[in-house]
Amino acid sequence: GRPKKEFRAEAIARLAHVTHLNGTAVTDEERSAAERSLIRAHTIDLEIKNEPTDLAVAEAPDQLDSLLAKHGRLDALAKVDLRPTQSVSLVLRYGNQSRTCQLATNQLIREVKQKVCDQFNVEPSRVGLYYIDQGMVGAMGPELLNLPGRAFHSYRPEDVVQKVNPMLTEERAKASFPVEELTYILDGGKFNTEKRREIEELVTKDPNFEHPPIQFMTREQQYSLAVKKALLVQQRLKELDMLDDPYASYFFRRIAMPREVSPIGLHWVMFVPTLMGQCSDEQRERWLQRALNYEIIGTYAQTEMGHGTFLRGIETTATYDPSSQQFVLHSPTTTSIKWWPGGLGKTCNYAVVVAQLHTQGRCHGVHMFLVQLRDESTHRSLPGVVCGDIGPKMGYHTIDNGFLQLNSVRIPRENMLMRNAEVQPDGTYIRRVSNEKLTYGTMVFVRSLIVSDAARGISEAATIAVRYACVRRQGEPSSPGAPEPRLLDYPVHQYRLLTCVANCYGLWFASEVLRDLYFTVQPDVLEGRTERLPETHALSAGLKAVGSNRGAACVEECRRCCGGFGFSEASGLPKIYNDINPACTYEGENTVMLLQTGRHLLKCVERARRGEQLAPSDAYIRSRPTPQPKLAGGPLTADLLLGWLRWRSLSMLLEVSGRFNSFIEQRQAWADAFQAVSRRLTRCAEAHCILYVGQAFLDSAKAAENPKICGVLTSLCRLFLLNEVVSGAGDVQLSRSDLARCQDAIDSLLTELRPNAVALVEAFDLPDRMLCSVIGRYDGQVYEAMLQWARQSPLNATDVHESYELYTRQFLAGRSLAKLAYFH
Ligand SMILES: Cc1cc2nc3c(=O)[nH]c(=O)nc-3n(C[C@H](O)[C@H](O)[C@H](O)COP(=O)(O)OP(=O)(O)OC[C@H]3O[C@@H](n4cnc5c(N)ncnc54)[C@H](O)[C@@H]3O)c2cc1C
Repeated sequence: GRPKKEFRAEAIARLAHVTHLNGTAVTDEERSAAERSLIRAHTIDLEIKNEPTDLAVAEAPDQLDSLLAKHGRLDALAKVDLRPTQSVSLVLRYGNQSRTCQLATNQLIREVKQKVCDQFNVEPSRVGLYYIDQGMVGAMGPELLNLPGRAFHSYRPEDVVQKVNPMLTEERAKASFPVEELTYILDGGKFNTEKRREIEELVTKDPNFEHPPIQFMTREQQYSLAVKKALLVQQRLKELDMLDDPYASYFFRRIAMPREVSPIGLHWVMFVPTLMGQCSDEQRERWLQRALNYEIIGTYAQTEMGHGTFLRGIETTATYDPSSQQFVLHSPTTTSIKWWPGGLGKTCNYAVVVAQLHTQGRCHGVHMFLVQLRDESTHRSLPGVVCGDIGPKMGYHTIDNGFLQLNSVRIPRENMLMRNAEVQPDGTYIRRVSNEKLTYGTMVFVRSLIVSDAARGISEAATIAVRYACVRRQGEPSSPGAPEPRLLDYPVHQYRLLTCVANCYGLWFASEVLRDLYFTVQPDVLEGRTERLPETHALSAGLKAVGSNRGAACVEECRRCCGGFGFSEASGLPKIYNDINPACTYEGENTVMLLQTGRHLLKCVERARRGEQLAPSDAYIRSRPTPQPKLAGGPLTADLLLGWLRWRSLSMLLEVSGRFNSFIEQRQAWADAFQAVSRRLTRCAEAHCILYVGQAFLDSAKAAENPKICGVLTSLCRLFLLNEVVSGAGDVQLSRSDLARCQDAIDSLLTELRPNAVALVEAFDLPDRMLCSVIGRYDGQVYEAMLQWARQSPLNATDVHESYELYTRQFLAGRSLAKLAYFH
């Protein structure tokens, strides 16, 4: 917030007749200073720089004219140009040669070094670039600029320590495979890796994306910063002609806003796709281009205070009035107020609103309507529209999830999205051939993105936690005088981290298979061949749930693996957790998603019983049990373990299906029988999805051309599968000896994989800028950086905090605090 003094001055300047404020008299002198300050704030920036600042752009106060009449135009108190230095002049000396050169400050350290070396024809690998602070050189010595990817203008020697922590260097040297090649596999090819890195470099070089850590900002500041950055990202993407390149724009957004959920995210995730899918051709002409050009910013308003999962329960009404050819949008109750839509509170000026359509005295169920919420020039909410921010949440601080109450708001008839249904001018309702199935396609795609986001979230948390585990020493030394062990030396710690890494790779590959499935099935669906839709729909629902559940659980495990530092925002981990967690709720609440998958699986058993053919990922489902694969005896290969998980999934499903059928035979209603098995059914759905993840993981491991990469991925996949067998042993019969063999195999795998722990997470190739973590930084210099971080806390701005004067001093002196105002 702004300092109290500033608030007081502004209030006095705006209130011409106030004589006392907060119990203190306003003197003439104070008034004059306050009024003159207000005039300066709203007039001078424009005059000095001919460039309006944020404040000058903000609406000028109504009182400005009368204050100008009283005091006249004022000169600035001082003229200070705060624009950053764009280039510097360097004098370079080498031996007895001397050169002068100009250097743009947005160059990377790597480029600066190259430029310096070019001057004297010196090989860059033989040159070190040092920062020498004349005042500090005695204490600090020359400081090596050793992060080649950092921009020159934002290189802060105080938070870059001279060299990489040797404990991390040592771990990096243990890798048994070429890390860079695994990065290419994860990115989908070398070309993609290079492109991603180029994009990351573009953002790194741009000083507009530099700012202090957002964790020290108020929520309002965080929101404001996120709006500015989100719009700046759009602007840059347009300038760089990248808007039509989904890969490039995705990575640009990620690296530019690594920890800020975008307040305009819903515009391109839901608003634009809904307009594409639900508008008639005419409507698309009218709105889609405006939305794509960002002339309007929209959100998707479905959920209400009282109605989430159950869409048909929505209460908002859209009643057609033929006399004016308008719909009247209305929120009849408190529970009908829209609640949650992203960007609805303050950012968006339009929304697709989901409401019950009434015409000619009949309700035709939920339909979508385009509703203008705010004036396009003033951004003030329109008459009848009451909207705002829903307040602080567990995470997502940078986005204004909002509420919306509609009080008989009228919109033209043409604002109903009319691709699938229409209300004619006289009020006649016409439903066209339903192509709801087409919208399933978009849903599958969005859900594959959620699975991939979950994998990316774990990759970030695991990179932080594994690096930290390499440099954190804790515990009893193995012999007197020896150092304390590193966290990564503990088998139980290896287990906690490596199973998270294994889950991450599994989900990563599964999300790719799911996305490919979408691209295979979607063209068929568009031509009316919908046979594979139930399979893809069920898979995407279940994987969305399993992915986001696992994502949240693994990130939390990584956070706890970092002890107390994991609880500090400095680690970056709380934010990763809070950003991943809501995905368990939105786009279909996870338990409800698993029930949908379970329902599909029950149908598959029925179809198998009737001898019908099943879709590829359901093809293992039979109407009779199959023999349990033997885990004892031969080697526990990934194929054998996968076979066991397939058998487990089928056994569980047949058991639940048998129960369900017996309820039906006892003449229970279908819905009651379903409820009776629902708890078990969610476990079946999970087992089915885990099987899919395991298969995707193993296929990708086998597909790796480099035998070393194939080897390490297969071992990691075995760890994933074994862990599933052990944790799912309670679902079915697993003999004690089989269980013991699996446990032994896990122990051996931990020893085998430990040297590759760092390499496996660093293959994700996450720059420090993306991780935003003090304890997960590439150089592993955790403690110095932690101290630097704490220094930035606003509470440290003064030695003695004002609360001491206000409360503590009085309390210590034995005075009663009861009479003091709670908020000063
Ligand atoms: C960060 C965030 C962003 C969001 N953004 C948007 C947005 O942009 N636009 C929008 O319209 N909405 C948005 N939502 C709302 C979101 O879609 C809903 O929260 C979600 O659909 C769940 O609805 P609900 O909150 O009413 O929970 P409920 O539906 O009330 O569910 C509560 C619990 O009951 C369980 N449950 C519900 N029904 C059943 C059932 N049939 N059987 C068994 N268990 C059941 C669920 O599993 C859940 O655990 C957002 C939510 C969040 C958290």
